[in-house]
Formats: sequence, C-alpha cells, structure tokens
Amino acid sequence: MRVHPTRLTLRLLPMTTTDFSCERCGNCCRIPGEVRLLDGEPEKIAALLGISTDAFIQSHTRLTRDRIGLSIIERKDHSCSMLDSDGCRIEEAKPYQCRAFPLDWNYDGWEAICAAAESEL
Ligand code: SF4
Ligand code: SF4
Repeated sequence: MRVHPTRLTLRLLPMTTTDFSCERCGNCCRIPGEVRLLDGEPEKIAALLGISTDAFIQSHTRLTRDRIGLSIIERKDHSCSMLDSDGCRIEEAKPYQCRAFPLDWNYDGWEAICAAAESEL
C-alpha cells in the first residue's frame, strides 16, 4: 500500500470487524506515495527475491522524502515496482505498511480506491 503524499494525515483505526478481505485489486499499490520499509524488511524481501540485501537496496529502493528511511521505488506511473500482473511479487514478505492497510491505518476517502471496502462495512 502506498501513502498518498497529499493525504499524510493518517488515521490509525482499531477497526473492530474481522470481515475485511482484501481482493488483491492492487489499487492501493498504484496511488502516488511511498512504501516505507521497517527494520528487517529489506532482508526479508531480498531473501524472497533471492538476491543480497545490498543488491535489493541498491536496485529496488530509494530514500524516503524525509531522508530517514527506505522506500520501494515506484514506476513512472507512480505504481509500486513490486506490483506485476499477478499482484504483489513480494506477497510473502510484504512490508508492514502494506499489510496494515486499511485495518490498522487508512486515510479519508480510502474506500474510493479499495475494491474490498464494502466487506469492511
Ligand atoms: S510492496 Fe506489494 S503490496 Fe506493497 S505497494 Fe508494492 S506491490 Fe503493493
Ligand atoms: S485497494 Fe483494498 S482490495 Fe485492493 S489490494 Fe488494496 S487493500 Fe486489497
């Protein structure tokens, strides 16, 4: 899940429902923003991809805009570079930011891009 740069006032939502089921539409991987990586996540993703952590960082990440962390690089159309026609290519090592949307955090209007939004209601 990518964080829209104009929507950085995020809501941390302890939603009570467990009914939400991601439909893997990939829409949240296509909006402009950053996919921040937590400590340990580059190593897990690199292992999944079968490359060294250094190679993953050099080839697949950039500095976050605040320059204190790493983000997965995006394509020219703003989609995440880990998104392919079958969905997230690092599904088994997906960053926390992606796994946490939209139950642990979201932003005003997130329902408009999420194919599974109705299942949360
Ligand atoms: S890492 Fe995977 S789930 Fe996260 S934004 Fe990229 S393609 Fe989507
Ligand atoms: S927009 Fe919603 S349904 Fe689509 S991949 Fe993201 S969380 Fe899943």
